[in-house]
Amino acid sequence: MADTAADKVQFSSLNLDAQILRAIEEEGYTEPTPIQAQAIPQILAGRDLMAMAQTGTGKTAAFTLPLLQRLLPHASNSASPARHPIRALILAPTRELAIQVEKSVETYSKHVQLRSTVVFGGVDIRTQKPALAKGVEILVATPGRLLDHVESRNLLLNQVQILILDEADRMLDMGFMPDLKRILMLLPKQRQTLLFSATFSDDIKKLAQDFLANPVTVEAERRNTAAETVKQSVLMVDQDNKFDVLADLLRTRGIGSQALIFTRTKLTAARLARKLDREGIPADAIHGDKTQLERIKALDAFKEGKITALVATDVAARGLDIDQLPLVVNYELPTNAEDYVHRIGRTGRAGASGEAISLVDGEEERRLVEIEKLLKREFPREKARVSSAPHTTPSHRPARPSTPHHGKKPAPKDEWFMKPYEPSQAAPKAEEQPSSTPDKPKKQTAALLTRKPVNH
Ligand code: AMP
Repeated sequence: MADTAADKVQFSSLNLDAQILRAIEEEGYTEPTPIQAQAIPQILAGRDLMAMAQTGTGKTAAFTLPLLQRLLPHASNSASPARHPIRALILAPTRELAIQVEKSVETYSKHVQLRSTVVFGGVDIRTQKPALAKGVEILVATPGRLLDHVESRNLLLNQVQILILDEADRMLDMGFMPDLKRILMLLPKQRQTLLFSATFSDDIKKLAQDFLANPVTVEAERRNTAAETVKQSVLMVDQDNKFDVLADLLRTRGIGSQALIFTRTKLTAARLARKLDREGIPADAIHGDKTQLERIKALDAFKEGKITALVATDVAARGLDIDQLPLVVNYELPTNAEDYVHRIGRTGRAGASGEAISLVDGEEERRLVEIEKLLKREFPREKARVSSAPHTTPSHRPARPSTPHHGKKPAPKDEWFMKPYEPSQAAPKAEEQPSSTPDKPKKQTAALLTRKPVNH
């Protein structure tokens, strides 16, 4: 990260309470990240804020720490729900991000008497009622489910002092604008609003104009720059040989070395995870056809090191916070160049070094050029070496024959891989679209699907 004056700021000079500082110290943070150094004083001063910060920059603590500080006068150990109205509302586009943000809130607030909870769609709404009924000062929510709770009269938003829109660009991408407008109408006019976004598009600027009052703008990184700590490379490889190159790559990295692998479609994600697993590389997939529970299970297994490879689509991976992830592989390049930036933001987080490898077929080169334009850099195109050696197959599985690669389509080795894709029974119909009580604006689905027909 750039060595600017902001890097020199210490947590101790930020006017945060000793109990908040204690929690930060216990997390092992030694100094604020640039976005924290810039945003915290402004938020403490009560200003509205428009912050450009990607996941991995420490943005969650950048808004949570001052938020806790500002709510501290309301800290209370009273059992009465009336003493714990919702005072801060954090909106996030996806369930995964909402869960992660709330985890961070819990971490940073563990020594103060402020309560938090999270609500998101795709699970029985009744399970979320008890926590709300007890009263919480900080509520993290996805927009659709929040409105469901409002309609069910499970919560009131009339005492919200601080509103945070996290990953606001994603919320707009996912068609949440009408929901956001409805939520905004339910909040007091007198409030502080903080908008965090990885990019500042014209739509985001318009959103800020409509909902923020005289905001200060802070920027963690230059527009659309990929994290400087990430070593990025491109391997040119035919689509048919990608699997073998990937398997070799993962094997040569050794046991315990994990990778997050991106595909463009949920079909490829499901098949790829299945095939890796069959080849002795423990893998699972997260995508929109997986139930919430399945996604959480896969993510937990990955975090616990039980699986080596987590295969994800762009939407499903949004907001994932996986610490110290050394490797991101783009098995397919994204349709939107900006998604590349989001993908590689999963590694090299908060100053740690990471690596991103893209496997690029000749037909995808157009997308690579778009990414290069966005990043204002060119990647050397290295030709991938396709190994002809047989893979080490676990003894309990039938040995896989060695495959000579001469650019020809290899014979199918796994019948399952060739079968048509069948989503799991209980799964929601579309990405981030839970079954009964959608987490998303219902009418926006078509628009979302039209814009990115296969990008799930
Ligand atoms: P975020 O951008 O909020 O997703 O945060 C990315 C990661 O950075 C999380 O794992 C945080 O625990 C970590 N982090 C946040 N602030 C700091 C800090 N000041 N020093 C070191 N790590 C941090």
